[in-house]
Amino acid sequence: MKAHLQVIVESHRFSTGDLIGGDAALDFINTITGRDQSPRDWLDSYTRLLEWAALAHLLPEKILRALARKAQSEPAAAASALARAKELRETLFALVTGIISGSAPKGTLALLSKHWIAGINAHELRFDDGHVIAEIRNDAADFDLIASMVAYRMVQHVLPLPKDRLRVCDGPNCSWLFIDSSKAGRRRWCDMAVCGNAAKSRRFHARLRQRRK
Ligand SMILES: [Zn+2]
Repeated sequence: MKAHLQVIVESHRFSTGDLIGGDAALDFINTITGRDQSPRDWLDSYTRLLEWAALAHLLPEKILRALARKAQSEPAAAASALARAKELRETLFALVTGIISGSAPKGTLALLSKHWIAGINAHELRFDDGHVIAEIRNDAADFDLIASMVAYRMVQHVLPLPKDRLRVCDGPNCSWLFIDSSKAGRRRWCDMAVCGNAAKSRRFHARLRQRRK
């Protein structure tokens, strides 16, 4: 994010249209939109973070319900956990955009590592139909579990991807991150209908002008 831009915390009802990153870890980073122009932070409370986590299927419902109950009785602790999650979010934005531009800031790994290890510790291994699966422990309902799971997914699913598949949306006032899983590998926008349309209509009008010459 450009350092001089003031972030406005905005109340937002998350919908599936906000989940375009291709992985929940990137969708979490995208809970700030418009980092390039007028940044709006959509996480206005720990409850909102839980709403987002439910929509993103980040954690089993049972654990989300336990966290919601805990947040009711310990609001101050929940608020501190939200602040820690946001710190991780901005660190991950710097890391991913750094990887994309070829200059990843080295200092970002310590915080990611801390949350990633907590994410591993929140899992247990068990047999399921002859396979071994990693599952979130039932007693892992800690306020920081959302940040831990975001870090876990980041390390497991996002960072191993080829770096040319990690993208920042080209649209104005967006800066959302996404995985380009298109065949040709040329996806430029988070969503064609939102950020692609402006560019498309600009191209359309340019073609019209060409034809009229
Ligand atoms: Zn966009």
